[in-house]
Amino acid sequence: MAVIGIGAAVAGWIIFADRLLSPLYATGASIAVCIGGFIGMALLLKQQYAHRSGQIYASDLSAQIAQSIITYSPFPMAVLDHEGRFVTINDASSQLMGYRRGELMGEDFFTLLDNGNRQSVLEKLELVKQGAMQQTLTTIIHKTGFPLEIQLVLLPLSEGNNVTGALAIGQDISDRKRNNERIRYMAYYDDMTGLPNRRMFMMHFNEVLERAGDRFIGMLYLDIDQFKLINDSFGREFGDMLLLQVAERFTRGLSGEDMGARMEGDEFAIMFVSLHSEKELVEKARALLTTLEEPFEMQGFPFHVTASIGMATNCKDCDAGSIIKKADMALGRVKEQGRNDILLYSEDWNNSSLERLTLQHELKQGIQRNEFFLHYQPQYHLSTGKVVGLEALVRWQHPDRGLVPPGQFIPLAEESGMIVQLGEWVLEEACRQNKRWQDDGLLAVPVSVNLSIRQFMQQNLKDKIATILRETGLSPQYLELEITETMTMDVQYATQCLLELTRLGVSISIDDFGTGYSSLNYLKNLPIGRLKIDRSFVRDIQQDPGDAAIVAAIIAMAHNLNLQVIAEGVETEEQMNFLKQHACDEIQGYFWSPPLPSEQITQILVRN
Ligand code: C2E
Ligand code: MG
Ligand code: MG
Repeated sequence: MAVIGIGAAVAGWIIFADRLLSPLYATGASIAVCIGGFIGMALLLKQQYAHRSGQIYASDLSAQIAQSIITYSPFPMAVLDHEGRFVTINDASSQLMGYRRGELMGEDFFTLLDNGNRQSVLEKLELVKQGAMQQTLTTIIHKTGFPLEIQLVLLPLSEGNNVTGALAIGQDISDRKRNNERIRYMAYYDDMTGLPNRRMFMMHFNEVLERAGDRFIGMLYLDIDQFKLINDSFGREFGDMLLLQVAERFTRGLSGEDMGARMEGDEFAIMFVSLHSEKELVEKARALLTTLEEPFEMQGFPFHVTASIGMATNCKDCDAGSIIKKADMALGRVKEQGRNDILLYSEDWNNSSLERLTLQHELKQGIQRNEFFLHYQPQYHLSTGKVVGLEALVRWQHPDRGLVPPGQFIPLAEESGMIVQLGEWVLEEACRQNKRWQDDGLLAVPVSVNLSIRQFMQQNLKDKIATILRETGLSPQYLELEITETMTMDVQYATQCLLELTRLGVSISIDDFGTGYSSLNYLKNLPIGRLKIDRSFVRDIQQDPGDAAIVAAIIAMAHNLNLQVIAEGVETEEQMNFLKQHACDEIQGYFWSPPLPSEQITQILVRN
């Protein structure tokens, strides 16, 4: 038998996980097939045997190799004759199709194909007869009747110039397809509820928004109230069971293009594609809450849950992400306001919260770029008119916004925690400046620095202040810390903290006195030097007898407790006279001086 090489044109094809099938060899009636590395091995063996023993002929060996490969190959293989009838078939093929080998020998391969595929495979076989390798995706019907998706490769078998048949190699890709579908499912659906997941929802929502035009589209972001508590109290399994039932109720009435999804945990999103108004969206949301009114049957018992819903609608150039964010924000507000309710997002919120975020970001930058500086407001002894102190007030020179008042950025700095860093800088700068004035031979008076509650709660506050005093060289009696009444609410902490501070030698005053919580009882036990009457009382001394009475009472009480009193925000002579009459010790306010830059304070100190 001659060894006839065929399929030289076969460049190789992909089989199971991209493994490459290399050129094939065939012998006349029986066929030798070599795959990949088998070729090299076969050729090597062939040479060795022919050379050494002289007994085994090359053609025999190739035939044996081909026979073995076909027989033992895990891939379904078959040899077809010119008419497409089975000449040889391996076990993998017969197993795949559910037949015994004997049943198929001599049978027409095409009868096994799905009707719809027959013609195209026939055409492929015609091309193979002309010497060209072909491959195609086809469906073979299993003996029991179910379809198998097969990747089919047909290789020409030739003797001389005549193609005598074809070697068919198949690969069952039904599994791969099933796996792909499974992977797709896992990627886009929530395993537990079977609902689309966040990814799928976002994708679909974006598609809907792109095609929305003038249509009104609304979405709800829902979350089960106190789900964590339910989970913690009854266990995860219970929680999952509940989620499953809730998911069913939420999505029960959805129609057409509307979509409900489980976003994560106990959060669901629902999009309504064909609404006419916000009113309709609100009605839908209310209806959803109503569906929860009927108790769930959990382990045989009725179980009540409520949910909260945030709503948002589409707008020009909005993408899914931003609408979801808005609905989520609305949901957050519902939660804050006591749950079990619905709320529609309002554009006004975004502006203010975006502005806050921007400002917070700029605040951070501002600290890094040293955009802050201090003004000082003199405090005067009322009867002598002498400067007795200076309050350091922080200022922010923003590169674009100009001078930003502390009322705008201090609360933000407090909220974000940046106040600690900023406050430390203020302390340091105020001490350094005060020391500079003293070094220049100017009047030595204490500088007052406002402390934020965050700073006050810092464990190492005392050490920080001690370090600042040491490093700036300012003597402690020239530093006063202003705290507010609320900081004294934790009496034990406040007492201990203030004692530590006063032991350093610094003094303490209570700022904005009268506006916060005051336990007058504790006031006498805390090491406080003076009270600063809030400017809101001072402002209306003239017009409001109540305020006048409060101011008078604070002064009297402070004196009884052996505390100094300073009135803030004194703007007029009448206010000053009233305070004088009631023996207030000191005043601070625009009437005698607004907060000023350090250079101008220098002038004032020189004059004093
Ligand atoms: P505050 O500690 O009560 O400071 C007094 C505020 O009253 C200052 O406002 C001052 O400019 C203003 N003021 C002074 N005299 C008058 C007056 O005659 N009439 C009126 N209407 N207002 C007067 P400012 O500088 O805007 O500071 C506002 C608040 O910001 C301060 O109130 C303080 O609570 C806070 N703050 C300022 N600097 C700092 C700081 O460095 N750290 C902290 N934690 N807070 C600061
Ligand atoms: Mg103050
Ligand atoms: Mg004040």
